[in-house]
Amino acid sequence: MSEQRDIEKIINQMTLEEKAGMCSGLDFWNLKGMERLGIPSIMVTDGPHGLRKQRQGADHLGIFDSVPSTCFPSAAGLASSWDRELIRQVGVALGEECQAEDVAVLLGPGANIKRSPVCGRNFEYFSEDPYLSSELAASHIQGVQSQGVGTSLKHFAANNQEHRRMTTDAVIDERTLREIYLASFEGAVKKAKPWTVMCSYNQVNGTYASENPRLLTEILKDEWGHEGFVVSDWGAVNQRDDALAAGMELEMPSSNGLGERKVIDAVQSGKLTEEALDCAVARILRIIFMAIDHKKEKAVYDQKEHHALARKVAGESMVLLQNEDQLLPLGQDSKIAVIGAFAKTPRFQGGGSSHINPTQLDTPYEEIVALSGHVSNVTYAQGYQLENDAVDETLIHEALQAARQGQVAVVIAGLPDRYESEGYDRTHLSLPANQTQLIDAIAEVQNNVVVVLLNGSPVEMPWLHRVKAVIEGYLGGQAVGGAIADVLFGKKNPSGKLAETFPVKLSDNPSFLNFPGEGDRVEYKEGIFVGYRYYDKKEMKTLFPFGHGLSYTTFEYSNLKFSRTELTDNETVEVSVTVTNTGHLAGKEIVQLYVRDVESLVIRPEKELKGFAKVDLEPGEHKTVSITLDKRSFAYYNVELKDWHVESGDFEVLIGKSSQEIVLKDTLQVQSTVRLEQQYTLNSTIGELLSDPVTAETTGQLLKKFQEASPMSGMAEDDSHSELFAAMMKDMPLRNLLAFGGGAVKEETLLQLLDGLNRR
Ligand code: BGC
Repeated sequence: MSEQRDIEKIINQMTLEEKAGMCSGLDFWNLKGMERLGIPSIMVTDGPHGLRKQRQGADHLGIFDSVPSTCFPSAAGLASSWDRELIRQVGVALGEECQAEDVAVLLGPGANIKRSPVCGRNFEYFSEDPYLSSELAASHIQGVQSQGVGTSLKHFAANNQEHRRMTTDAVIDERTLREIYLASFEGAVKKAKPWTVMCSYNQVNGTYASENPRLLTEILKDEWGHEGFVVSDWGAVNQRDDALAAGMELEMPSSNGLGERKVIDAVQSGKLTEEALDCAVARILRIIFMAIDHKKEKAVYDQKEHHALARKVAGESMVLLQNEDQLLPLGQDSKIAVIGAFAKTPRFQGGGSSHINPTQLDTPYEEIVALSGHVSNVTYAQGYQLENDAVDETLIHEALQAARQGQVAVVIAGLPDRYESEGYDRTHLSLPANQTQLIDAIAEVQNNVVVVLLNGSPVEMPWLHRVKAVIEGYLGGQAVGGAIADVLFGKKNPSGKLAETFPVKLSDNPSFLNFPGEGDRVEYKEGIFVGYRYYDKKEMKTLFPFGHGLSYTTFEYSNLKFSRTELTDNETVEVSVTVTNTGHLAGKEIVQLYVRDVESLVIRPEKELKGFAKVDLEPGEHKTVSITLDKRSFAYYNVELKDWHVESGDFEVLIGKSSQEIVLKDTLQVQSTVRLEQQYTLNSTIGELLSDPVTAETTGQLLKKFQEASPMSGMAEDDSHSELFAAMMKDMPLRNLLAFGGGAVKEETLLQLLDGLNRR
C-alpha cells in the first residue's frame, strides 16, 4: 500500500471545509489533526540552536518560559567552525531533544544572507557567503532529520533586515537573487531536503514571499524539487487564498478560522481549484505521517552529554582574531584579572523567537577559575554594567586595580541583549561606551590584555592596536564559559574562521547607502557585491577579512593538484592540496578554495568561495584534502538564458587561509557546452563581432576595407596611432562603418553579412 495512495484516499474522504482547515494551524504551535481519518496533530516549534517548547502561553518573541533544553551556539558561531560534521552532530542532538519533547518539526535553520552587519538577526544566520551558508544549513538539517524530526529552512527569501520585516519589499535583480540570496537556500534544499520551508514576512520584488508563486512554486518546488510543505512565518500571511495558490500550504499560527474561510470562498467562487487545495493538503499530510512514522516512544536524551557537546562546539566556533607576542594560550600559573560583567552573566544566546531556557549555564569566570592552577590566581572585577551604557568610574577604578595586579587582563566584553535581537536592527557597530572606555583604561595600565567578545555580529574595535589578543566568541550557547576557558588555556586550540567580514566601520559595508531602505522599499543596489565580494573588488581594508582566524600552531600548504586541467562545464575536477602542521601543538585548519574567472564579459567578483574542508593535524602531520568542483563552481547566473552559465576560458583556483591570504593558486580551463545565441544588429559593436570567433574573420576583412577608404585610415597605418584606432573602433557600432567609411562599405553588404551571421 503506497503512502501516496493512502493520502489520496484520506483526502477523498474530506469535506472542503476539512481540507481548508488542514491548511491552517490548530493553535500557536500545533497542526490540526482529524481523529475520524486517523490524522494526528503534530507540534512544531523553534529552533534553531535549541528547543523552545513553551510550557504555558504562546508567543513568537521568546517571552514566555519554555522547557529546559540545551542551548548550542547560534548560527553565527556555528558557522565559524566551518565544520559540516560538527554542525550535523548539533542537529542530531537537537533532533533527540525534539523526540524527547514530542516535537515533530524544529523551526530552523535560518539561511538568510548577512547583507549588512547590523541586521538584528544576524546571530541566527550563518554567513555572507551563499555557498558556506547553504552547506552548513544542509548539515544542520541532515542532523536533525536523521532523528526522524523535520526542519523548517527559513526565512525564504530575502529577509535580510528586521526593520519593517513584515511589510518591506526587497527589490533585487534576478542575477543577484539567484547568485546570492536564493543560492543560500538552494544548496540546502537540494542536498538535505528539509521537510518544510518557512517563507519570510517581507515582499520580494513587489510580491509577499508568502504569496509569491515564482519563489514558492516555480523555483522551490519545480526547479529545486522540494517535496515537503511551505509554512508561513508566524503571521506572514497577507491574502490566504493567494498564498495557497502560490504554493504556501500551511498558515501558522491559526488565524481562528479566517484563513480557512478565505480558502473555502476561493474554491467556491472558482478562484482556486480544489485540485490545488488537495495538493496542499497532500503535502501537509505527507509530513505529518512522516513525523508519526519516525516518532520514538519514550525518547530521552542525556543532558550532561549534550552540555559537553555544547562546550566542544562553542570551543570549535571561537575565532582567534589577534594574538600578538603569542600571549595566548595562558599558562596555568598566570595571574589573571578577569574583568567584565559578562564574565559572571555571559551573553550566550540571541533575543526573540530563538531564545531558550538552557539546562545549565557555565560562566566564564567560574570556568577560568576551574582551569587555572590556583583559585588565588584569578581575580574578578565587574568593570561595566549591562543595563545601560553609562561609564561607572567606581567600577573602572576597581577594574584597573585588578588589572594592575594580574599578569594578564582578560576582558569579557560584547553586545548586551538590548543591543541586538530579532525584531530590530542595530544602527551602529559600537560596543557600549562603558565597555570601550574600560578597555582603553585597562590598556593604559596592563600590557597583556585579552579581549573576549560575546556578540551576534561584528563590532568596531577602535582599541584593537592597544590590546594583544582578541577572541571572537559570538553567542556561544550555555557552555560558553567553559569554552572560553578551554581556549584561553590552550585546552582547545582555536580553529574557527570568520564566516563574515568585519568592516573597519559601518559605512564601508556595501549595503550602507541602501539599508534599511526608504519606507517599505529596500533596493539591493550593491547587487552581487555582498561581503568579501565587495571588499575584494574595491581592494578595501577590512578590520578582519572573511575566512580569517588564527591558531596556536602553524600550517603550511603544498602540492596543489588538479585531476585534469581542461574540462567541459558538465565535467567535474578534483582539486587536492596538502596541509602540514608545522607547529608544536595539535590543531585544525580550514582550507578555503576560491575560484576566479580570469576574463569575463560579465561583471564578476574577484573570487568566490567554492569549497572548504576542515583538517585535524597532530604536530608534524600532513594530510591531503580533496575538493570537487563542478559547473556551479565556475558559473554565473545568466538572466537571458535563465540558467547558470560558464564562459569558456581560464579559471584560477585559489587556496587560502582566508579570503585575503591566498597561499597557492593554479589555472585550469573550462569549455562551455552551451553556445549563447547571439543576434547581431547594425548596432552591435565592432569589438563584439571581433571577439566572437565565428564572426571575427569576416569583421576583420570588413574593417580592412573600411580602413582603406576611411579618412581615419592614416591612423591605422601610423604605428603611434594604431592602438588608438583599434580602441576607438572597438566600441563603434557596425552602422558607423557606413557613415565614416567614405562609401566603401555598403548598407546591403552589412545587412547581408548580419543575415549570414545570425543564421549560423
Ligand atoms: C520568527 C520565526 C519563528 C516564528 C515562531 C517568527 O517571528 O521570524 O523565525 O520561527 O516566529 O516563533
